[in-house]
Formats: sequence, structure tokens, C-alpha cells
Amino acid sequence: MQDDALGMLAKVTRELLEEERVEINLQRVADAALDLLGADHASVRLCESDGSMAAGARAGLGTDRPPPPFRRGEGVLGWVAETGQCACIEDSSHEPRFVARERGFDVGSLLSVPISSPDGTVGVLSVSSVRTCAFRQAEQALAQVLASAAAQSLRTAELRQLAVTDSQTLAYNRRCLLPRLREEMEHARRHGAPLSLLLIDLDHFKRVNDAHGHPTGDVVLRAFADTVRECVRAADVLFRRGGEEFVLIMPSTDESQATTVAERLRRRLGRAPLRVRADLLLLQTASIGVATWDGEEAAEALEERADLAMYEAKRRGRNRVHVSRPAG
Ligand code: GH3
Ligand code: MG
Ligand code: MG
Repeated sequence: MQDDALGMLAKVTRELLEEERVEINLQRVADAALDLLGADHASVRLCESDGSMAAGARAGLGTDRPPPPFRRGEGVLGWVAETGQCACIEDSSHEPRFVARERGFDVGSLLSVPISSPDGTVGVLSVSSVRTCAFRQAEQALAQVLASAAAQSLRTAELRQLAVTDSQTLAYNRRCLLPRLREEMEHARRHGAPLSLLLIDLDHFKRVNDAHGHPTGDVVLRAFADTVRECVRAADVLFRRGGEEFVLIMPSTDESQATTVAERLRRRLGRAPLRVRADLLLLQTASIGVATWDGEEAAEALEERADLAMYEAKRRGRNRVHVSRPAG
């Protein structure tokens, strides 16, 4: 039994190191906790910035219904999130911190341990059993090992995200544009799906810096990126290509759909000023080039066409959308 547990723990931690997708890793942690600790239910909850404890992964009983909502400070797991301490509850009916919720099964005993990062508690790993007294010291130690594996996976994902994100606008940075575009082309080829690109350049952005200062210009860039994200689908991916130039990759989007989105974005920018400070609203228009993949051209060539289309939009007076047509 000891050897089994150790072997399984070694296997799970190895798998976590090899896998990049954090949601898969959290599910592995929940599954392993269920098995290793002989629990009836296991969950990984993550501390969100609004104080809620989102269910990152669940296993065992009750997973056929939505997870009961918990907030930081609420219930046993909320207490663990708040204090960063472990809670091993032998009998929930005698536990004042325990909050009865519609779970689809009875909780006799439970164990919650913090998932900790250098900045504090980022989540909670919990297991529960319909029996009382199901968990003791040994189970708590195992749960803590799984929780630190989950913490490591979350941290790695965060660092990976930081490396590909432009911190000023939260768009992806230039470095990942071409690799991602090639991936999307491959996907489009396999599925016979269209793929479009928008190249968006802010109009006369230099004037914003000149009139209001560079820091205000920075805020405009962020507000602009937020507006683009609001206007497009979740599947569309925004990149900051350079200073005040952005690229939007639009998977499964043909030329007419891409043009519609580009027009909608252009109109929105031209109509609704960006909130830059409590006392400052700025109208910031953009020129947008649209290019749809011809199914053969290289990523660089597609970007180049979107770029030329954007310059054509500038040349024709700015605050406009221009669509590139493949030569021939
Ligand atoms: P156009 O309509 O022709 O695109 O005019 P423009 O002024 O937007 O373009 P130009 O290329 O002449 O100037 C781009 C400006 O963007 C100049 C540069 O200082 C500013 N810029 C680039 N990166 C940043 C940044 O990170 N923050 C701020 N505040 N400004 C930036
Ligand atoms: Mg510009
Ligand atoms: Mg520019």
C-alpha cells in the first residue's frame, strides 16, 4: 500500500511536469487525490481576484452537478484559503467552520490543504468522505505533496503566460505572432476552415503622447486593447506587434466576417471615446487592414498583405478598413 501510494505519487508528479495545460494538471491532481486518499470527492479550488473560489477540477461523487459556490473565508475550504493552514475535519457535523451545501452526497469527514505560491495561498485542495474519520496525518501529508505539485504547475503556467504577454496591454507579444499564425494555418488546413487577420494601427497616436504625455499614451493603448477584446470573439487572438500596432488572428473567419468585425471595431472606436482617466475621455480611431488566408501563402506573406492593406487605409484618409485581395 505504501509502495503503491509512492509509485502513484511519483507517476503523477512526473506527468504534471510533462504536461503544459494547467487545467489538465489540476484534473490529474484531483483524480490522484481521490484515489490516493481513498476519498469520495476531491476538488481543486482556485482563489479568484473577486474573492470567489472557482472550481478548477473535481473528481468523484457530486461531479454531475454544478459545484456549490464558495468564497474566501467561507466554509472549511474558504478558511484554508484565508489562513493558509490545513484543516482535517474528522466529523463535519461537529465542525463550526463546515457549511452544509447541496452537494449530492453527505460529507462525513474532510481534509483541505492550501495550494501556496510565494505570494500566498492561490488555491485549496480538498477531499471528503461520506464516512467520518477518513483522513489522518498520513493522508494530510500526501495531500500536501499533491497541493505543492499543483502549485508548481500553476506557477509554471503563470511564468509561461508572462513570457508571451505584453504587460502593458495584456495582448500577446510580437514573438508569438508568427508561430501562432502558423499553428492556426495548420488547423485551418486540416479543417478546411477560413482564417483571417486584422492589422490595426492607431491613427495619429503620436499626437496623444504630444498632447497628454507618454504615460497617458500608455493608458490609451491598454484601453484600446480592452476595447478590441470586447468587440471580438473569445477565439480571436490579439497581439501587440509593436508600439501602437496590433494584429488580430481570427480563426474560422472568412473575409466577409472579418470585414464586418473590422468595421464594427472601427465604428466603435470612432464613436465611443476611450476612458483614459476619471477626467479624461479620448477619441482614438484606428486604420485596419484585413487579409484572409488564401490557403497556401506563408504566415509572413499573410501578415505583409494585412500590413499593406492597413497602409492603404491610412493613405485613403485613416479611420477606415481596407481589405487586401490576393494577387492574381
Ligand atoms: P499614423 O496615423 O500614421 O499611424 O500616425 P501615428 O502618430 O500613430 O504613427 P507614428 O508611427 O508616427 O507614431 C507612433 C507613435 O506611437 C510614436 C511613439 O512614440 C508612440 N508609441 C509607440 N509605443 C508606445 C508606447 O508603448 N507608449 C506610448 N505612450 N507611445 C508609444
Ligand atoms: Mg499609428
Ligand atoms: Mg504604427
